Amino acid sequence: MLHGQFLDAQPYGSGHINDTFVARFDQSGAPVRYIFQKINQNIFKDVAALMDNIERVTSHASRRAKEKGADASRRALTLVPTRDGRSHLNAAGGHAWRCYLFIENARTYDIVETPSHAREAARAFGTFQGLLNDLPGGRLRETIPDFHNTRKRFENFQRALAADAHNRAANARDEIDFALKSESMVDVLLNLQKSGAIPERITHNDTKINNVMLDDATHEGICVIDLDTVMPGLALYDFGDMVRSATNSGAEDERDLSKISMRMPFYEGLVSGYLSAAGSFLNEAERAHLAFSGKLITFEIGLRFLTDYLEGDVYFKTKRPGHNLDRCRTQFALARSIDSQQSAMETITTRIANKETSQ
Ligand code: ADP
Ligand code: MG
Ligand code: MG
Repeated sequence: MLHGQFLDAQPYGSGHINDTFVARFDQSGAPVRYIFQKINQNIFKDVAALMDNIERVTSHASRRAKEKGADASRRALTLVPTRDGRSHLNAAGGHAWRCYLFIENARTYDIVETPSHAREAARAFGTFQGLLNDLPGGRLRETIPDFHNTRKRFENFQRALAADAHNRAANARDEIDFALKSESMVDVLLNLQKSGAIPERITHNDTKINNVMLDDATHEGICVIDLDTVMPGLALYDFGDMVRSATNSGAEDERDLSKISMRMPFYEGLVSGYLSAAGSFLNEAERAHLAFSGKLITFEIGLRFLTDYLEGDVYFKTKRPGHNLDRCRTQFALARSIDSQQSAMETITTRIANKETSQ
């Protein structure tokens, strides 16, 4: 439980989803920092289910860290319970708040600056997935159903295209053609899951670099944060989203498409970091689809931007007319870049995987 005298609080970090604050409390003469978050209930409708997932995941991660003799308060998020022992507070105005121990002497980065950043982040996410392979207590709650159901995402796109409610399809002919031509991709992982070739695991679902704390001194990835979307999923969804977000040479809404490409040294960093942690539990089919997963998730996000553009920008916040179409173009350009390098990516993956298993 939180104790001491409240000193001050201010907005913190650059997260886009929740409202995050750092607050200081005087505890026996020394200021101690805590993270307070107001949970975004527009996106997360079932806060109790979400917090139930987070409570189970964080306590399991701490337990595992302690067993290894590590400092659990730096290796896992630690929820600070309310006075009556709950994981979150239902406050005035219907807002839900939670509090975490502040992880000191570490920071998040908004941009992957070097291949070694990519490696550390991927290692941390791989370790996180491994940690949850034996989470007790049954299946986690699926807080956002069908989050990566690419077939459903494709059907949503087809519906938006058929309706063309804002007469925008004419502006997006090339993107629509690309989407329609790429349809065969959308069932690949779903079919592997259906046939039992790829297992359901527990996944993070927001594997961006700014959701990993890197130690200030060693730059090692020490802790995965931002657990709102932790739920059942495929390991490849997490890896694919790392490829999408960490290898892109340009911004997510870059309009000059000549600046967009998949950067191989960053991919190599991701694979080596990820396999160093996840190589021991991934099966053959999962390993064989690492490069493909990057293409699929990049395509999926592009498709969601295109769908939102056609539907009149109802989901993603936009800052200018055509913003979602620009974002779609960027993602599709990245998907093409991955496609043209996919066999080289697979060669690298195999080389690193073989090195991993021979160690
Ligand atoms: P969002 O869902 O809005 O992205 P996050 O949970 O990622 O929210 O938090 C936003 C930022 O706050 C993070 O990127 C990180 O820099 C910082 N942060 C979050 N939790 C902690 C923590 N326990 N210790 C230190 N910094 C944190
Ligand atoms: Mg975040
Ligand atoms: Mg988040």
